[in-house]
Amino acid sequence: MSSETNRRLFISNGIKLAAASAAAPLLSSCSTFDEYLFEDSFYLKDQVVIAGGGISGLFLAQSLRRNKMGFKLFEGSARIGGRIQSSKQVDYGASIYRSDDELLKKLVKELELASAPLDKSHLFLIAGMQDLTDRLFEHLAGLIVYRSVRLRWKAIAIQKINEFHEVEFDTPRGRRTFVTKKLALAIPPSQWASIQGLGDLPEMKNAMTWAESLRRENTVKVILTSQQQYVTAAPIKNLMFFEDESLQVRQIVKKNKSSTWIEIDFKSNTAGASIEIEKINDFIKRKMKITFNVNKMSSENYFDWNRVRLIQGSAFTSPLVFPEIKSNSFQVVGDFASALKPQSLEGALQSALRAAEFLS
Ligand SMILES: Cc1cc2nc3c(=O)[nH]c(=O)nc-3n(C[C@H](O)[C@H](O)[C@H](O)COP(=O)(O)OP(=O)(O)OC[C@H]3O[C@@H](n4cnc5c(N)ncnc54)[C@H](O)[C@@H]3O)c2cc1C
Repeated sequence: MSSETNRRLFISNGIKLAAASAAAPLLSSCSTFDEYLFEDSFYLKDQVVIAGGGISGLFLAQSLRRNKMGFKLFEGSARIGGRIQSSKQVDYGASIYRSDDELLKKLVKELELASAPLDKSHLFLIAGMQDLTDRLFEHLAGLIVYRSVRLRWKAIAIQKINEFHEVEFDTPRGRRTFVTKKLALAIPPSQWASIQGLGDLPEMKNAMTWAESLRRENTVKVILTSQQQYVTAAPIKNLMFFEDESLQVRQIVKKNKSSTWIEIDFKSNTAGASIEIEKINDFIKRKMKITFNVNKMSSENYFDWNRVRLIQGSAFTSPLVFPEIKSNSFQVVGDFASALKPQSLEGALQSALRAAEFLS
């Protein structure tokens, strides 16, 4: 989370925290207070446990709160946002959205984020896309900052006992287990295999079998500095719609007219293949006839994933593949689980909204 967000959180919650601490004089430190409230019960009858703190998990939490439902959100890594990450206005993950992305546009307006058009059909956030997840988290934080959200709590095992889900987490303080009726999995399929017992859940039976057979893809983002952009202006045009047997250029984006950098996303065309980031680097250098190093960012770098598997949302929203789609106790959420706009921010929001309706 950015220092600016921490500062905003500190100011906005400072007075409220002071009042809360005064009401509970025995709990002298803020973190102890958080721990006390967070861990007061490991049995969550009426609260939804959300595993995964990307945009889909966060938006689900916000939608549940709107529906007056309680939640606890657990993010496995040390930061909120998942595939959204920005630094100094440069996006290393998602960076643009479409002018017909209605949920995203509404959220941007609601959170009062500054946006600008990139071209006729795309927009971007001026402070970087991470502004979205930072501000959403800030809204969710509420009275006690970490009352409902925990970082570095990685779901490692799930089992179903009658109508309850027992979810085990690896945390900085050791293993913790929550028992809950309502569970939302906001974790990409590439991570499912690391959760013991997930495939044995009756709700996941078809989905797991199906996910195994999916093709592998990977997306890499390359960021060129202004100097490099100047040098490569002409060759970049040639690269634009290039395809060969294994690579496809998905997107080339100039952030705005005075942009100082360019993004290039690739994906694999080959079923079962994965893209090595060095291969991409070599490809760009060869195609653009450049010799300098480009700054490159792949899902491996910022999500600590070995591979990213993207799957078709339409199948995931089909009762044939995923019969529990309408379950009011278990939901799978994420960009891959959107029928209309899979693999995008808008898709992630759509799936979260749908899940919130069933869980509320
Ligand atoms: C390079 C790149 C560029 C992109 N550009 C765009 C773009 O311009 N526009 C667009 O619309 N989309 C873009 N996308 C897609 C967009 O980023 C995703 O659709 C969206 O961020 C997915 O959000 P999510 O919440 O579903 O998943 P994620 O963001 O992947 O969030 C999942 C979260 O779950 C956490 N997690 C994983 N395992 C566990 C566990 N066991 N326990 C607890 N937590 C766990 C992860 O740490 C992560 O925070 C891009 C993606 C990439 C990779």
